Amino acid sequence: MFQITFLGTSASAPSFHRGLSSQVIQHNEHRFLVDCGEGTQRQILRSGLGFKGLNRILITHSHLDHILGLGGLVSTLARWETMDEMVIMGSARTLERIDDLLFKVVFRGVRPPIDVRLEAISPGVIFTNKDFSVSAFDVTHRGAASLGYLFEEASRRPFLTDKADKLNIPPGPWRGQLVRGQVVTLPDRREIQPDDVLGPVREGVRIALVGDTGRTDNLLPYLRGLDALVVESTYLESEIEMARQFGHLTAQQAASFATDADIKHLILTHLSRRYRERDVLTEARANFNNVRVARDFDSYEIRRGECKRMEPVSKNFHHREEN
Ligand SMILES: [Zn+2]
Ligand SMILES: [Zn+2]
Repeated sequence: MFQITFLGTSASAPSFHRGLSSQVIQHNEHRFLVDCGEGTQRQILRSGLGFKGLNRILITHSHLDHILGLGGLVSTLARWETMDEMVIMGSARTLERIDDLLFKVVFRGVRPPIDVRLEAISPGVIFTNKDFSVSAFDVTHRGAASLGYLFEEASRRPFLTDKADKLNIPPGPWRGQLVRGQVVTLPDRREIQPDDVLGPVREGVRIALVGDTGRTDNLLPYLRGLDALVVESTYLESEIEMARQFGHLTAQQAASFATDADIKHLILTHLSRRYRERDVLTEARANFNNVRVARDFDSYEIRRGECKRMEPVSKNFHHREEN
């Protein structure tokens, strides 16, 4: 299960109700901050999520509405003794601008108190452990070297305790070995196959964050069949020419892609201040049913084929219909 919390959902400039792009993806104790628009530091505070474990930051691209918050956030976190390093990942071109922001402005002439590492990444796997992996993929957006991020849980076969008990498999290392797919020989010389005690494969949850994009056709190979897709919806179809010109999507385009790619749940973000949320939702819903428009501090739990909105961690705010 992944959890995603939206910290900022506005495009280009903040609005009264919406901050600039940022979201936290969580899998058990692992957290990733994806993008860090201006004001993200305060949004984290207000969300009630806390700063713990937020030292791994993935950036989609170098446009200011996705990176300016790094200045304040990194400056604050670098003064905390509990963190010994921060890693900011993005394409080499994205990191050039972040390098300027952090080392020519924030830490100009001083050494940061903790190790602030900028790690250039290319499409492919960028993080993996036994439970899930994160991969980057190319995104086409107005000439920026943009990357999207795909989070995938490992598929697994459940251990069927009933069957193991029936086969009289004693406690000891054997059950663990069977879970790992190894054939074991028990002390009584019986040989047990993993298939004897493992259930059918359960696919892991898959979600992706695309960030800003002017195209969707080239995303299809990575994103087909996702449990949840988070993508921008900056324009409405009535202004499709502007969307094209600035390398963004309309709500209809995002929704049509979700249909084509057999996405289970679509979450739209990066809304322009020129539209009302309900108009974005109406346009999208005409093309794809399972769609929501994210608001700041919305948090979703995403399981296999399921996307459930959670109660906010912090009780200090409530959701308001905007406009
Ligand atoms: Zn943007
Ligand atoms: Zn952009």
